Amino acid sequence: MLPLSIWESESFFAPKDFIIIGSGFTGLWSAYYLKKRYPHKSVMILERGIIPSGASSRNAGFACFGSFTELESDTSKLGEAEMLELVEMRYRGLEKIRKKFSASRIDYENLGGYELISPGQYPDLNSLRTKIDSLNNRLKEITGRQKTFQLNDSKIKTFGLGGSHHLIENKLESQLHSGKLLEALVQLVHSEGVTLLTRLQKHYCQTWISSRHADKSCLQNRLKDSESKELFTMMRVFIISATWTIACFWAAQEINSSMKKKLFLSGPQNIFRMNWNDFCGK
Ligand SMILES: Cc1cc2nc3c(=O)[nH]c(=O)nc-3n(C[C@H](O)[C@H](O)[C@H](O)COP(=O)(O)OP(=O)(O)OC[C@H]3O[C@@H](n4cnc5c(N)ncnc54)[C@H](O)[C@@H]3O)c2cc1C
Repeated sequence: MLPLSIWESESFFAPKDFIIIGSGFTGLWSAYYLKKRYPHKSVMILERGIIPSGASSRNAGFACFGSFTELESDTSKLGEAEMLELVEMRYRGLEKIRKKFSASRIDYENLGGYELISPGQYPDLNSLRTKIDSLNNRLKEITGRQKTFQLNDSKIKTFGLGGSHHLIENKLESQLHSGKLLEALVQLVHSEGVTLLTRLQKHYCQTWISSRHADKSCLQNRLKDSESKELFTMMRVFIISATWTIACFWAAQEINSSMKKKLFLSGPQNIFRMNWNDFCGK
């Protein structure tokens, strides 16, 4: 990279209040809400690809909040309260997407979703019915529906799925075009004044994270490239992603405690649970 001109360093590369690393769905939505919450603070996203280049543009586009067996499994692993909290976040998240973007812009279609139950999974039909009723009761407050899930075995034949034992339908599930949603989100964050810089190599972030000396200056953090040239300065860094945050945790161990207050590593769910005032100020 060429040395920065004065004008570049005073514009695109000017010190930022918040830097988010990664422009997948999580980074983009986080930038959007950060800017809404702190309109006078500067927010920048750094992305390694020319476009967002992670799971967000490669997924199946199911606008879903958990299938019946997934929620049953979540309940046994996480407990009832956490399962419901997760469903509520997913459900409200989908409502927000619907509110923000028209169906035609992101190819949103309410086609419903189906889950196939194989013969060995629930041999006793009555017990399956009881479990579905019980889950529906717990979900009523979130979805506003008496029956979020229902057995619809007649469709097994219609769909030509002969080997299945039962079919559970969820009429609230939909599909969307994840590429179009990402594109719309990029335009949205730009319109809110967020800077998005792309083609930043992975090691920019990693070098910075693993530098033991990164916090020598306590007032401003610096993000360096692989040759230790300083590229960015910022007050807070968010590394938020479902897919690769965990890999950064080992590196974060090397950062001393004053730096940890400026660095927020999170998967997407925790970003919504964080205490913003503690981390960002009022
Ligand atoms: C095959 C598949 C199918 C899926 N199907 C569905 C589905 O149907 N419905 C659904 O709701 N979810 C689905 N998911 C899950 C969903 O896609 C992810 O949960 C979501 O995209 C995660 O978004 P993210 O922003 O956390 O991560 P990502 O989209 O992976 O974003 C991380 C971003 O960070 C960038 N990055 C990485 N390292 C660096 C670095 N060092 N410096 C700068 N930038 C960096 C990447 O290029 C990327 O753009 C699916 C996932 C997969 C893999």
